[in-house]
Amino acid sequence: MDREKAVNLRLAGIGMTSARTRGRLIERLRSEGIKDEVVLAAMNEIPRHIFIDEALATRAYDDVSLPIGHGQTISQPYIVARMTEVLRNGKQLGRVLEIGTGCGYQAAVLAKVAKEVYSIERIQPLHERARKTLRELKIFNVNLRYADGSAGLPDAAPFDGIIMTCAAPALVATLREQLTVGGRMVLPVGTQEQHLYLIERDESGYHESRLEEVRFVPLMMGKA
Ligand code: SAH
Repeated sequence: MDREKAVNLRLAGIGMTSARTRGRLIERLRSEGIKDEVVLAAMNEIPRHIFIDEALATRAYDDVSLPIGHGQTISQPYIVARMTEVLRNGKQLGRVLEIGTGCGYQAAVLAKVAKEVYSIERIQPLHERARKTLRELKIFNVNLRYADGSAGLPDAAPFDGIIMTCAAPALVATLREQLTVGGRMVLPVGTQEQHLYLIERDESGYHESRLEEVRFVPLMMGKA
């Protein structure tokens, strides 16, 4: 079998990795309270099983986080949906920044709801694998960077949305300055106990709200 055919078969999936199984996950997300149909459609389109090791692929459409190597995880689908929904706020997004590419799944979902995505990862093998996976999926509006993303990406700022998929110990002020006026940032904050925070920027300044409790891997400093 040629490579192209093998890739297409893997993309299509079978049984626990099929489009039908993915559809059941979308139903579940809807019943768990995700209302943004644009986000649900994006997640229905992206094959999550392609982002994880084949040995774990049969669990790809369970609503759980899974290991992706290097001590990191692919986020739980509900959290990906929730963060994307909060970031979008019912509007089409222009330029978006993600800190913590990991396997690239969240970036792929963002690629469907934003015009242009920048995503930073500090672990080189993860960065490279994400690049390969996004290419296989023919997603071309994601710009991947291998760097420490803790200071954001000033050279591509400002962003309509910033999403952080690793937990900072406290809210960082430098990142919010890279938002457009009208922009939103969603990020987990905390050490033992973490919560999702929403930062909104408008003409009068920044407004923060604390959302639900979450569990993320920590933000680390420097490149690995
Ligand atoms: N967005 C991913 C989740 C990855 S887990 C998904 O869709 O599944 C969080 C990722 O953040 C890890 O890969 C970790 O290496 C990365 N990370 C942690 N600190 C970072 C930093 N300072 N800069 C960039 N990436 C970082």
